[in-house]
Amino acid sequence: MSNRTLNLDDKLYRYLLDHSVREHPISPDQAQLMALLVRLIGARNSIEIGVFTGYSALSVALALPDDGHLLACDINDDYTRVGKPHWQAAGVAHKIDLRLAPALETLDARLAEGAAATYDFAFIDADKGSYDAYYERCLQLLRPGGLITIDNVLWSGSVARPAEDADTRAIQALNDKLRRDERIDLAMLAIGDGLTLARKR
Ligand code: CA
Repeated sequence: MSNRTLNLDDKLYRYLLDHSVREHPISPDQAQLMALLVRLIGARNSIEIGVFTGYSALSVALALPDDGHLLACDINDDYTRVGKPHWQAAGVAHKIDLRLAPALETLDARLAEGAAATYDFAFIDADKGSYDAYYERCLQLLRPGGLITIDNVLWSGSVARPAEDADTRAIQALNDKLRRDERIDLAMLAIGDGLTLARKR
């Protein structure tokens, strides 16, 4: 055992999280903000990409009206299984439509079914390499005035430094793109690990 505590810089802390934490749950203040946003825009139909253990899905589903609908996309049954009892206990399980498949397949299927411009709210919090593709699908699926929220856009601060990995590069590229994107109104909040709000014009 060492007699001193290791000094964790951001990079090492990121490494530690990436190699130990098996999910990246959003913070309670962020979950509360998202629930408020869902209510503010009167969202009925919502999309979540990256469900993990279902905490954000629970927050959003609680904020949706009783006939609201959350299309919840994930590929991992081990994590999403954790959330289901909580959805049941909170009385919102009937609002959550969990699709265990690659999210792009689920979203493209919805578009093929004619669901463009029928959703009000989306939360993107999955594999960073596909963030841009998720964003583009959500932009098509949301109605004008709908809101896309994107998690981890500050990526523990690493976005402000030269990228050393593909995930950081993907987030930087999307952040750069959104800043210039005339299809949306934009805000980036320093809550949790950074949350982007993109309102479809
Ligand atoms: Ca996250």
